[in-house]
Amino acid sequence: MSTERDYYEILGVAKGATADEIKKAFRKKAREYHPDVSKDPNAEALFKELGEAYEVLSDPQKRQVYDAYGHEGLKGGGYQPSWDFMQTFPDLNDLFAQFFGGGFPGGSGYGQRSGPSQGEDLRFDLELDFMEAAFGVKKEVEINHLIHCEPCQGSGASPDSGGPVTCQTCMGQGQIRQTTQTIIGHFTQITTCPRCQGRGTMIVDPCKVCQGKGRHNEAKTLTLTIPPGVDSGTRLRVTQEGNAGMMNGPSGDLYVFLHVKEHAVFQRDGYDLYAQVPVTYSQLALGDDIEVPALEGTEKVKVPSGTQSGTIFTIKGKGIPVLNGNGRHGDYHVKTVLQVPKKISSEERKLLEKLKALESEHLHSEKSHKSSFAHKFKEVLSGGH
Ligand SMILES: [Zn+2]
Ligand SMILES: [Zn+2]
Repeated sequence: MSTERDYYEILGVAKGATADEIKKAFRKKAREYHPDVSKDPNAEALFKELGEAYEVLSDPQKRQVYDAYGHEGLKGGGYQPSWDFMQTFPDLNDLFAQFFGGGFPGGSGYGQRSGPSQGEDLRFDLELDFMEAAFGVKKEVEINHLIHCEPCQGSGASPDSGGPVTCQTCMGQGQIRQTTQTIIGHFTQITTCPRCQGRGTMIVDPCKVCQGKGRHNEAKTLTLTIPPGVDSGTRLRVTQEGNAGMMNGPSGDLYVFLHVKEHAVFQRDGYDLYAQVPVTYSQLALGDDIEVPALEGTEKVKVPSGTQSGTIFTIKGKGIPVLNGNGRHGDYHVKTVLQVPKKISSEERKLLEKLKALESEHLHSEKSHKSSFAHKFKEVLSGGH
């Protein structure tokens, strides 16, 4: 029932219209769409569009969101038209009966006639290992949902009792009309039948299997196929595995929310894969070919001589498979991290002390690069600038 037309335009009011002007405009326009008056075949759609426009603009909070962010803002906030405001227009009840079969749509329950309705959607949370998310996996899970009760055919009445009986309060209508005479005319108010809660029928002898509810719980094992490339926050929809509908209405869906566990070595950002690889001073100074773990097996990284700690090497196309990406992958970024040994052998100590002496000599010699960071650092240390 969503529309992309401007709500002010639909109602034919200015942007700064007062609440009273908006209400008047709605009442006037709604009357124009009355099937007895309007010959427009789209009258119903136009009426519903009008109702949505009024519902938003008559609510200061919704109007503020709409003014600032438009239709997208309302959708982002999860706005659904409820038509609850119609209770404030008892004089338009006849219009409602025409367009909504006597009841109001939405969840108010006001004047609602219970017929077949869609079952509820359900949520299931599933935790995956890092590699399961990267490569995809089949998972067997046990879910609980409500299914249609076979013995009573969803009616809730015991099969031996001959089914539900017609409610005598509303004579099966599910709602009661009350007309009140006032000085400004008469108002017809439609309310849900309090005896049968709008069903129009009563259950004398409830079904033993579902306790009269028409649905009962079922534990079910499902095999979920998780595609490669999913991540925390990915939501999978399994159609028709939510709760069964009421009165043979369609089933809702099951939404599987995924949560991916951390990995000891790898991190990911979208489809790019990251890892840190420990290297020694001599490997960075002299250069080396190093082997690094990858999603599948290992990869070789050529570290050139004079590489600094923290340098990142990118291996194209060796990251996470892109979800529904036809075999495309993100990239793999390997960061070299200098590991300084905590314990050294006596031979290593001798060599390092010799190296230290050479480095000190080098820094004081004319050959030292005047622009190097080490040289500048030394200058500041000895009181220069
Ligand atoms: Zn009733
Ligand atoms: Zn039953």
